[in-house]
Amino acid sequence: MAEVTRETILEALGSVRKVEGGEDVVSLGMITGVVIRDGNVGFAVEVEASEGAASEPLRQACEAAVEAIPGVLSVTAVLTAERQAQRGAGANGGASGAPGGAPQSGENAGAGKSQRISGIGAILAVASGKGGVGKSTTAVNLAVAMAADGARVGLLDCDVYGPSIPRMMRLSGQPETVEGSKLVAMENYGVKCMSMGFLVEEDTPMIWRGPMVMSALGQMLRDVQWGELDILVCDLPPGTGDAQLTMAQNVPLTGAVIVSTPQDIALMDVRRGIAMFERVDVPIFGIIENMSYFLCPHCGERSEIFSHGGARETAAELGVGFLGEIPLDGAIRTTSDAGQPIVLAEPQSPHTAAYRGIAKRVLDLCRAAEAGGERQAPNIVMM
Ligand code: ADP
Repeated sequence: MAEVTRETILEALGSVRKVEGGEDVVSLGMITGVVIRDGNVGFAVEVEASEGAASEPLRQACEAAVEAIPGVLSVTAVLTAERQAQRGAGANGGASGAPGGAPQSGENAGAGKSQRISGIGAILAVASGKGGVGKSTTAVNLAVAMAADGARVGLLDCDVYGPSIPRMMRLSGQPETVEGSKLVAMENYGVKCMSMGFLVEEDTPMIWRGPMVMSALGQMLRDVQWGELDILVCDLPPGTGDAQLTMAQNVPLTGAVIVSTPQDIALMDVRRGIAMFERVDVPIFGIIENMSYFLCPHCGERSEIFSHGGARETAAELGVGFLGEIPLDGAIRTTSDAGQPIVLAEPQSPHTAAYRGIAKRVLDLCRAAEAGGERQAPNIVMM
C-alpha cells in the first residue's frame, strides 16, 4: 500500500480553494497539525471565528481531497477558530508551523511571537525523555508543594494523548465558561488546573486529538481564567516530539526541568530533551532523578536498586544542574494514583521533604530567571 506522507496530504489539500478561483487552503496557511497514523489522517483547518459554521463545506472538501489519496484509511478534519499570529504568506504560513517543524526564520520570523501571559509570573516545563518515569507524579507533587509553601500555583496538563492530571489531582467534570469563551481553571489542593482531560471525552479517538493539540494548548494557556499566578507548572507529554516542541516554541517558558529514572538518565532520551530546550533557547534548570533509591518502609534502610547517583554525574557531564532525587516508594505510587499527592497525604514523610526541597529550589530558580529579564518565546509560526 502506498505510504501516506505529509507531503502528499498537503499536495492534495493544495487543490482545495477557500473561495472559488481564490487561493488554496495550504497557501493561505489554514492547515495545521497534520497527523498520520497507519493511514489514518487528522488535521485542523484554521478559520476565522466569524466564519466557523459557514466553513463546514470547506472542511468537508478538505476531508474529501485527502480521502482520495491512495492508502488513506480515514480522515478527520476539524475546524479551529483561533489564531494569534498573522497568517504568513505562502504555504509556510500554517502548514510548516505544524508540530515537528523547526523554529522558523525568514519571512515568518516573529509571526507568532508569543507574549507573556498576563497575570502569570513564571512558566515551568516539566519534561521527560520518555514515558513512565514519573514526570506527572513529579509535576503534581511539586505544584502542590509550592502551593503549600504559599505560592499561587497553576498546573497545566499538556499531555493531550494521556492526560493524568485530572486523576492525580482528583478533579473531574467540566470547567465553567465565563465571559463568553474563557474557561475557569478547576482547583484542588490549592492548585488551579487545566487539562485536555476536562475537555475531551476519554474515548475520543486519538486521531481527533492530534490536530486539536495545536489549538488546544494555546487555548488552555491563554483562554483560561488562571487569575494571578506566581508559577504555572506545565506537565509536558513524555518525549521530545511535536507537542513538546510546540509548547517550547509557543510559550514563554521561564525554564524546564527534566525528570528521569537512574537507569535512563544516561540514555539518549535525556540528551534529546536537553537539546530540544536548548534549540528553542529555554533555560534548563536541571534534572530530577525519580525512583532514585528505595527507602525500606519498615527499617528505613536505603538501598540503591538501580545505578543510583548517575544523575548527578550525567547532569554535570551535560552541563545542566542537578535538582535532587525522589525515592522509589509504593506510597508515592498509591497516593499519586489515588489522587492524593504524597506531599499532602504524608506531609511528614521524607519523600515529602524531598519534593518540597526540589520545589523550593525550582521556585527560586524561576524567580531569579524572571528577575533577570522578561523572556519572550522564540519565533513560531503556528496558530
Ligand atoms: P509519566 O508522567 O512519566 O508517564 P507517571 O507520573 O504517570 O509517569 O508515573 C508512572 C507510574 O509510576 C505511576 O503509577 C506513578 O504512581 C508511579 N511513580 C511515579 N513516581 C514514583 C516513585 N517515586 N515511586 C513509586 N512509584 C512512582
